[in-house]
Amino acid sequence: MIDAAAAERAEFERPDIPSIAEEAVPRCDHCASEAFTVYASGRDYELRTCRNEWRFVRCADCGLVRLHPRPALTALDTIYPATYYAYEYERIPWVARTAKALLDRRKLGRILRDTGRPVRSYADIGCGTGRYLDAMHAIGVPKAQIYGLELDAATVERLRVAGYQVHCERVETCTQVPDGSLDLATMFHVIEHVESPAAVLGRVARWLAPGGVLALETPNLDSLDARLFHDRWWGGYHIPRHWTLFTPEGLQAMLRAQGLEPFAVRYQTGHSFWMYSLHHRLRYGPRPRPRLARLFDPLRNVLPLAAFTAFDLLRGALGASTSAMLVLARRPAA
Ligand SMILES: [Zn+2]
Repeated sequence: MIDAAAAERAEFERPDIPSIAEEAVPRCDHCASEAFTVYASGRDYELRTCRNEWRFVRCADCGLVRLHPRPALTALDTIYPATYYAYEYERIPWVARTAKALLDRRKLGRILRDTGRPVRSYADIGCGTGRYLDAMHAIGVPKAQIYGLELDAATVERLRVAGYQVHCERVETCTQVPDGSLDLATMFHVIEHVESPAAVLGRVARWLAPGGVLALETPNLDSLDARLFHDRWWGGYHIPRHWTLFTPEGLQAMLRAQGLEPFAVRYQTGHSFWMYSLHHRLRYGPRPRPRLARLFDPLRNVLPLAAFTAFDLLRGALGASTSAMLVLARRPAA
C-alpha cells in the first residue's frame, strides 16, 4: 500500500525546494467574517517553487474562497520566478499560440459588442506583454488613451517605449489613471492573484466613466472540472499563486458591493485547468504516473490542449458553465 501523502511530501522535501514564509488571512475580503470551513488543500504542483502545503478555506458567511494562510509578500519573488509563464507567452508552441490569438480576438470582439458604446479609452490591468493593448490600438484607440498595469519591469519599459501608458504598479496604489475616464477596462486572470480583490475592484470602478464597462476573467469554482478535482488537484487552484476564488454569484456580489452593475456572464475555455488537473492527479496522486502525467502539461502538448479547448467550446455553446468565466459589469450612468 502506497501512502500517497508521504510520497508527495518526499517529492517536495528536496533541498532545492524552499519552505517559504506564510501570512494569515483571518478575515474574508468580501464580508469580513472570520468563520470558515476548509475547502481544499495542495502544493505548488505546477512550478514546485516551495515545499509548503497550502489550504483554501471557504467563508462560512458569504462563501468566498481564499488561501489562508498565504505566502508572505516577502516570498513573492519565490512563487513568481523569472520564468513565470505569464511572460513566456512567446515560448509556447506556434500552433497553440496561433489558436490562442484566435480565441483572444474572439473574446475581445465579443467584449466590445457587449460594451455597447464606442471605446475611446481602455486599460488592461495585468497587461503582460501587451497583446490586448496592441489589439485595441489596431481598432483605432489612440496610444495616449491606452493604459496598462504590469508588475514585470522589463515588460513595462518595452510597452512604454512603444507609446502606451503603462505603469509598473499595483492597482491598489496606482493614481496614474484619471478617475471617471475609461470606457473599458479588462482584467484577465488577475483578480484571483491580488491581496484584496474588493479594494482592486473598488479602484477600477472609480477609473470607469459613467456607463463604462469592466470585463473580468477568473477561474470559476462552479464548473465540472473544479468539482471533479475539488479536494486537491484542480488546475484552477494554481497553488500558492491564486489567493481568492469565486463562483459567478460570489463575484457578482463583490462587483455590486463596489458600485458596479454586473450584466453578463460568459464562459470561456478552461483547457489549461483540465490539463493541469489531470497532470497533478497523475503526477502526485496515489500510484504516481510521471510519464503519463507529462502528456497533460499544457505548455508542451498541443493535441490534448486542442481536444480540451474543443470540448469546452462545445460545452460553452451548449450553455454549460466552464472553469473560466468572463463577467461584465457596468458603472451606472447616473
Ligand atoms: Zn465572507
